[in-house]
Amino acid sequence: DTTERANNYLTNNAGSSFCVQNFIDNEFTENTQTEDWIDTFNPSTGEVLARIHRSAASDVNRAVDAASKAFPSWSRTTRQERADMLLRIASILDEKKELFAVWESIDQGKTLARARVEVDRAIANFRYFATYILHEEGAVRFVDGPASTLTYEHRSPVGVFALISPWNMPLYLLTWKIAPCLAFGCTGVAKPSEVTSITAFLLGEVFRQATLPPGVMNIIFGDGSGAGSTLVKSPYVRGVSFTGGTSTGIRIRQDTVADIGKHLSLELGGKNPTLIFDDVDLAKAVALAAQASFENSGQICLCGSRIYVHRDIYERFLPAFAEYVHKNYRCGETIGPVVSREHYSKVRSYLRLAQDEKAHFHTGEVPDEDPHNGYWIKPTVLSGVCTDSRVMREEIFGPVVTVSPFDTEKEAIELANDNPNGLASVLMTTDISRMRRVGEQIEAGLVWVNCWLVRELGTAFGGMKASGIGREGGAQSRDVFTNLRTLHVR
Ligand code: NAD
Repeated sequence: DTTERANNYLTNNAGSSFCVQNFIDNEFTENTQTEDWIDTFNPSTGEVLARIHRSAASDVNRAVDAASKAFPSWSRTTRQERADMLLRIASILDEKKELFAVWESIDQGKTLARARVEVDRAIANFRYFATYILHEEGAVRFVDGPASTLTYEHRSPVGVFALISPWNMPLYLLTWKIAPCLAFGCTGVAKPSEVTSITAFLLGEVFRQATLPPGVMNIIFGDGSGAGSTLVKSPYVRGVSFTGGTSTGIRIRQDTVADIGKHLSLELGGKNPTLIFDDVDLAKAVALAAQASFENSGQICLCGSRIYVHRDIYERFLPAFAEYVHKNYRCGETIGPVVSREHYSKVRSYLRLAQDEKAHFHTGEVPDEDPHNGYWIKPTVLSGVCTDSRVMREEIFGPVVTVSPFDTEKEAIELANDNPNGLASVLMTTDISRMRRVGEQIEAGLVWVNCWLVRELGTAFGGMKASGIGREGGAQSRDVFTNLRTLHVR
């Protein structure tokens, strides 16, 4: 079973107590101050799982210093050399992928099946950017006439980056930043979430085994207000790629606003709509809507948490959906707990609010105030929630979805866009002109038509409105990690 296998890994690979320590200059550092640890918990049991180094400002500065010293030589490596390094990292990760999946599952609470998918995607991140840089193209023009010039675009790596990630897809989201950072010739200091740090710690060992030169990628652990904040404010950090909550993103923007040349990429929260029109195959729509709502217990920024269904099929959809969720999303089997005690209380507070506002619970319930044996919350389907309720407007980021009817296409678009966020959306219809007509009006950086969570790493990823600044993926990641100059050569 998972725990037993993980225990084996622990005994074989990490000694008897699991302490997560900083990885700076290709070495794991000792934490000499015994009180400076953060305990993290196994979400399935509520028991302490690991101790995380709570980095002080001096630790962060050491890591930034290491990355700064490594930058001149790493930025001058050839694309082929960097591609080879990324492919080497990918193969070591590939060899160890089951270990990574088991730890991700235990640490975050996600099912092992889900963790395996994410580790495969982490490997793909390295492979994608390794090959992207070998095939990159830039604009070249010949200006003719008496002042004839060869005009071309040239890019150079920005410098040291802060790479900060959240707890919901720990390894996948961190490597989504680390891989392009390395590929485009930058060096970095990565800081994973203090809630889920284990796979980032193991990744340091992969870098060591891949013989990544010292200082090129450093990984520090600790809390956001301490280590994270010191990192983004450092004047030696020339760019920040951040994924996390909207309020943290705003804070980071404020903290860096005066440093005008600092590159900033912010991937923030969502409150994503799922629109279901009356021409769909009901069974397929039910299954897709359930997956988009409850994958990883609803803790994916791209999950659809507001379902809008055409009134002609609403009365049939709702019971079918509730029954499907009840049968197929079972705690401990196909769905894990939420990540932490704190998050449990947050999700619970929205369920209490829904109860106070007389919402109808088709599945799920308000869980006990104190969690027992882990942070389990049943998948919850709500109806009868008003559009101005905080349940409908704010990101809950848990296994909670609202279902509401709409009458016209225009109303569906208005409801979808009636939110400060604009990250992702799902549109279900078989009418091809509606796919484009509606799809092109939804205020979201990602619109999935009759599908969900499909990713093509060369295309732009990111949100509109309060869901972020900038995009990542393919050429968009290149824009984040490089400076662009245009040369006119006479
Ligand atoms: P969070 O904002 O609390 O933390 C994210 C990271 O930022 C952590 O590593 C944290 O330590 C760090 N941090 C916190 N305060 C900081 C500060 N002042 N300066 C620098 N770093 C700081 O988010 P979370 O609770 O870990 O993750 C959940 C959120 O992430 C949700 O809102 C979710 O929608 C969002 N998310 C967005 C995407 C996306 O691609 N848009 C993907 C996944 C998750």
